[in-house]
Amino acid sequence: MTEYIPIAVQSKRYIEEQKFRYLLKKGLKYYGKEDDLITLKGEVTKKQYSKLLTYCIKHRLKCKIDNGYGDRSEDYRIAFRGHTRPFLDDKYICAYCGRLFPWNEITVDHLYPVDAAGRSLRVQRKLLAMGCTDVNDIKNLVPACRSCNSRKGKKINGYILRGRIGRHPSVWVFRYILRAVVILAIICGVVKVLQYVGIL
Ligand SMILES: [Zn+2]
Repeated sequence: MTEYIPIAVQSKRYIEEQKFRYLLKKGLKYYGKEDDLITLKGEVTKKQYSKLLTYCIKHRLKCKIDNGYGDRSEDYRIAFRGHTRPFLDDKYICAYCGRLFPWNEITVDHLYPVDAAGRSLRVQRKLLAMGCTDVNDIKNLVPACRSCNSRKGKKINGYILRGRIGRHPSVWVFRYILRAVVILAIICGVVKVLQYVGIL
């Protein structure tokens, strides 16, 4: 049986007639206009969706899977803070670089970005596999400093694993201790060599 995907195409202010007609031809229907946002909705097959997505990206139209799974919630930052205790006072460790930041300097990053979760069935399936009820699920949120967050942007590759490991402060504490031990071992080694050659 063919699987149909509910989709929504949106544009701010207006859609040129030619593009509007193209979307109608693809089976979408005008849904309405709210806050300057024009919306068309419909159901398409996977293959049609992939073509439509390419068309929308090219023509700067927003295209998303219309199941609410990939919609950014307004209170995900509050939800994160409610579920995650600060590491120290009101400070959190960035999941990507391990540095400590006060709450007002930390961002809450969606491991799988909102855009990707709204557009891709594959990403939605990965989120489901992680046990997320939607893209704003606490399991998909990590603390990130501003520079790591902007460096990550909409990238997925490599960042998901880094974020999932780095979200645990104990990992960074262990790393810092290990680094200190290595530095200490090097200093001890150098001192011993200097003593051996008679400089110390
Ligand atoms: Zn960082």
